[in-house]
Amino acid sequence: MKIYKVGDEKRAACEVCQSFQTVSFQLRDVPFSDGSGLVKNVVVGVCKTCDSVALLPFQSVPAVKKQLETQRKAVESRVPAHMIDILNLASAKLGATPEFIPLLMKYYIHMLATHPVAAVQLVQLLTSELATGLANKRLSLKGREIHNDINELKSLSQISNTTELLKGVVLAINNDVLINPDKQRIAHLKSLVATVA
Ligand SMILES: [Zn+2]
Repeated sequence: MKIYKVGDEKRAACEVCQSFQTVSFQLRDVPFSDGSGLVKNVVVGVCKTCDSVALLPFQSVPAVKKQLETQRKAVESRVPAHMIDILNLASAKLGATPEFIPLLMKYYIHMLATHPVAAVQLVQLLTSELATGLANKRLSLKGREIHNDINELKSLSQISNTTELLKGVVLAINNDVLINPDKQRIAHLKSLVATVA
């Protein structure tokens, strides 16, 4: 097997140019073909004519596979039992069953990951008495975007521990849905419930 170094070049077929071109091996972030995610920082052959990724050398396959597996693996965490109760109550208030919980969490994590102002308030929520308690219930979230969203939210909120982050998100849901109902947010969530029901 030939190992390519960054900067090496060879001739290869480029799908974009629809012809043989010179490709240069470079470190790139490569999007999945369906656009649902990104494999980061792998050696790929970049077409020198159109700058698109023309080939994935065999040496990069394990790195790509590993990143794909990590991104597909569920985020598993243990939280205090009352956190799950909060999520059950919030789901009921939205007219949904407990099956809605993972989607509710993912919606909130994504929403907070794209709203820095709301994200920085999570730390504050973790000082509440409700943030404490023995972590004895499992919370599992699946999906390709969940890892990206959680990493994004960790850096925005400055909460590096996944369990603490998820607890903060549950308490944000508690606030918005149960304690100080946010009408707009609730209407949006109800339409989401209607969509997946
Ligand atoms: Zn090309």
